[in-house]
Amino acid sequence: MAIGTIFNIQRFSVADGPGIRTTVFLKGCNLRCSWCHNPESWDPGRSIEVFPERCIGCGECVQACRHGARFLDGGALSFDRTLCRRCGACAEACVADAIRSIGEERSAQDVLREVERDAPFFVESGGGVTISGGEPLLQPEFVLELLRGCADRGLSSAVDTAGNVAWPTLSEAARATDLVLFDMKALDSELHRRGTGVSNALILANLERLGHGATPIWIRVPLVPGFNDSESELSAIAAFCSRLPAVKRIEILGYHRLGEGKRSRLGLDRGLDAEPPSEQALARLAGVAAAFGKPVFVR
Ligand code: SF4
Ligand code: SF4
Repeated sequence: MAIGTIFNIQRFSVADGPGIRTTVFLKGCNLRCSWCHNPESWDPGRSIEVFPERCIGCGECVQACRHGARFLDGGALSFDRTLCRRCGACAEACVADAIRSIGEERSAQDVLREVERDAPFFVESGGGVTISGGEPLLQPEFVLELLRGCADRGLSSAVDTAGNVAWPTLSEAARATDLVLFDMKALDSELHRRGTGVSNALILANLERLGHGATPIWIRVPLVPGFNDSESELSAIAAFCSRLPAVKRIEILGYHRLGEGKRSRLGLDRGLDAEPPSEQALARLAGVAAAFGKPVFVR
């Protein structure tokens, strides 16, 4: 029985595949996109998110912390993340919800019991279960047990991946699911490295192989101002995908600023600071991509 670390189960999602979906978000990611809206997924273990504006100054977290990471400094509450062992005791002690412990270990069977309660919504809407992250395929045994468990229960499933994993892992997951949501950030290799911290060589090689397989693929492109919001990038991505029979559509997702507040609450550096793309820019670049033959949708 596989155990995985997850940070959310979101019900009634309409953005993670067809129909109404229940999306299971797994911890851990091997990309560091500057625009990421789920930076709480990055760390494979527990993350500690702090909301200073909610703090009522009761000092319970100081009492709860055995590692001296939360302390009073001249009467003011301080948090030294270098001392924090991420045990979560402060979050449990805080009655004001000013500290959130993110990430819990669950068995695949336990998660399956939870998601299958939504089966009536999936049947009515043509939806199902999406396994997302982070990069879910960094926990392959857990993901495979979830996907096979969905199939055993007659639930449709999808895997949302950035594709930066070994081919055997990706290919086995693709065989066990009904749909792969494949995130593509940039075709230009140097640009990809600048925006995500890693090369796209493995990602493109994996997509090339997956694109000639049997499992349908929806490509998801986050449209990020100043990064990939150019006609040349969208054309290059769409041209690459146009040769791949398994790619059934391209979705363009406009950058939004949700990740910025999270980053500061998680003690991470600021990341991207940009205005979301306008509807006109999204529509124009969708038109550019559509010229290469695959259906293109803006989300
Ligand atoms: S998570 Fe644990 S170690 Fe970190 S500040 Fe809270 S109580 Fe202290
Ligand atoms: S327990 Fe919560 S409310 Fe109390 S001092 Fe700590 S962070 Fe503030």
